[in-house]
Amino acid sequence: MNAGVLALQGDFREHIAILRSIGVTAIEVRTPDELDAVDVLVIPGGESTTIGKLAERYGLIEPIRGRCSEGMPVLGTCAGMIFLAASTVSGHQPQLGVLDAVVERNAFGRQIDSFEADLDVVGLDSPMHAVFIRAPWIDKVGADVSVLASVTDPVGVEHPVLVRQGRILASSFHPELTGDTRLHQMLVDFLDAG
Ligand code: GLN
Repeated sequence: MNAGVLALQGDFREHIAILRSIGVTAIEVRTPDELDAVDVLVIPGGESTTIGKLAERYGLIEPIRGRCSEGMPVLGTCAGMIFLAASTVSGHQPQLGVLDAVVERNAFGRQIDSFEADLDVVGLDSPMHAVFIRAPWIDKVGADVSVLASVTDPVGVEHPVLVRQGRILASSFHPELTGDTRLHQMLVDFLDAG
């Protein structure tokens, strides 16, 4: 089993390290050939417009879409979540559109543009400590998307920050920065689940 981490921009090295820490072979993916060599893919946090534009330039958009439609497990974190989604509320940027969700970039606003929280996650038996850095939240999800965790804003409205659609997992936060390996393990387990 080979895991790939899209390594165009952002904190791909941290994801490689987490994957290796759970015993998975992990490589950096920058080309369609490298994508062909992996069984699961992580799309890291960073700057989603930059990741999207570089993915276009490297000819990766269609190959990643194709692999997703064939059932390749994917985990997108923060900018990676934005890149996976169908659209953003703020306008056009290159996106894969494989996750049926509308995302709002930098949704938590300036005052709290970075914060940490303990999240209850559906299917996990203890909270997950989550680091949010200029993070998006999800505005709308399609019928096939399950919300696994949400954050409540100051006026009491809940916003999804961890969702799953089939073998696609997307988080607003950065699991690779806390040493919590459970989302990466979930990704790898999607493959074993057949
Ligand atoms: N604010 C970034 C974006 O909109 C995402 C930040 C991150 O990945 N930590 O692309």
